Amino acid sequence: MKALIAAVLIVAAHVAGLALMPSRGMTVSYVFFFAVASLAVAGTVRAFRRSGTPGDRRWWLLTASLLLWTIGMGLSARQDYTLDNANLAPGDSMFFYILYVLPVLVAVSSAPVAARKYWALGIDLVLASLLGVLFYVRTFSIVSLQGAIGPQQAIDVAYMLDFENACLAVAASLRFLATDRADDHAFFRSVTAFFVTYALAGFFYNHFVALGGNPNFGTSLWDVLLDVPFLALVTTMAARLPQRHWHAPVYLVRFVQSASPTFLAMSVLGFGLMVIPGYPSLGIAGAIAAVIGIGLRGTLAQVDLVEEEYRLSRSREELQGLVFIDSLTGLANRRALDERLLREWHRPGQREPIALLMMDVDYFKEYNDRYGHLAGDDCLRALADTLTARGLRPSDFIARFGGEEFAVVAPGTRLDDALALAEDLRSQVEAQAILHPTSPFGILTITIGAAAMHPTANSGPLDLLNAADRALYRAKEAGRNRVGGAVEPRPATSRA
Ligand code: GH3
Ligand code: MG
Ligand code: MG
Repeated sequence: MKALIAAVLIVAAHVAGLALMPSRGMTVSYVFFFAVASLAVAGTVRAFRRSGTPGDRRWWLLTASLLLWTIGMGLSARQDYTLDNANLAPGDSMFFYILYVLPVLVAVSSAPVAARKYWALGIDLVLASLLGVLFYVRTFSIVSLQGAIGPQQAIDVAYMLDFENACLAVAASLRFLATDRADDHAFFRSVTAFFVTYALAGFFYNHFVALGGNPNFGTSLWDVLLDVPFLALVTTMAARLPQRHWHAPVYLVRFVQSASPTFLAMSVLGFGLMVIPGYPSLGIAGAIAAVIGIGLRGTLAQVDLVEEEYRLSRSREELQGLVFIDSLTGLANRRALDERLLREWHRPGQREPIALLMMDVDYFKEYNDRYGHLAGDDCLRALADTLTARGLRPSDFIARFGGEEFAVVAPGTRLDDALALAEDLRSQVEAQAILHPTSPFGILTITIGAAAMHPTANSGPLDLLNAADRALYRAKEAGRNRVGGAVEPRPATSRA
């Protein structure tokens, strides 16, 4: 608000100066133009400082644009005061009035901060340099250093400025509308405020004031119009960012952000085509460079995208792997066991029975109570190592079922063989002789229930699980540290 009041006061002071000192009007206007441009430069430096760390370097591009404009104004003053040239479009200052958009154009063409790349910056620099050359050639193909030769040339220069300012105003507005980040919002809000007011004020001033009979500064109160874009910039830079602003549809944001790198190349293409009549080789070179620039940027972006997708799919695979692993023991987990069992059950041509062993550590609660849960965890890990150390065939599948329970799926195994395997595993654990003073056995032991079933159309893995679980329960009842087989592993009569 304070900035807005100050801006209004500056405009009023400019009007008052022109009205009170008509004979020194030119000097009054120059003083105000340099003053507002300096304010704007100071504002961009402050905005960069306030943009946090790392600073948003796009503000420096805006600073560079404002400085180039100021150089144009300086050259205009030199023509007026030193060279006494009253022509309204001297070539040198016109060139800088055109060139000044270049740094901001690079910023408007840039990808969002997170996606900025050095190769993209390199391509942009080449295109920007080429555009500078094209600006130069285009400007001096219309006017000479002294200025426009006739009224038509002056009008042509005015149109060229209009075209350029309008393009930037539109590009900046699009970027502003399609922001989804606070720093983008802050930057493009200011750039849009500047270029929209500059395009409007410049159009009106050039066509109706300068070309309308007041070619020199200081002869019309309308000079204050040229203060407006700089004051608009300073005011928006000083204004707070709203907590929430209008959010463009995500698709529009992505579209504009993806399309913005073409703004710069489009400008090169446009100006290349414009100079073709006078400088065919340069114009064609510009057009070709623009097409190559767009193509290269697109291709490199695509390469990055493919790379990123590959990276993502690899980490997705890694994550999927982790989903099936028990983090404590490194064995397969319950989810993997369920999948494996289901797969074995429905394996085509499966004629042999599938065996399942359910193992449970005896008196494990007491072990935890005695030694603590961390020691209990170590014990479970040691147990997992023992169970996988030997005795299992490659086709057997061991998993941590949950808590202190483990399970083995053994395809193509009859109950007798399953019981033999279970006994082998039980004795392995017993042979480890892990001390467990509060167990009646004095050492850590396991109890195993085994079941085997032929997969049939109306039975499922759950029947096998239930049978093995019942066998385990009975073996526990019978005194623990033993192996028990399912008495009659019979499938349920109806199953989904
Ligand atoms: P039983 O002989 O009847 O099997 O007796 P138990 O004490 O082993 O049986 P219960 O099911 O009552 O206790 C199982 C214990 O296993 C309880 C729990 O603290 C312990 N446990 C389960 N998962 C873990 C684990 O991941 N780490 C540790 N340290 N302990 C676990
Ligand atoms: Mg248990
Ligand atoms: Mg137990």
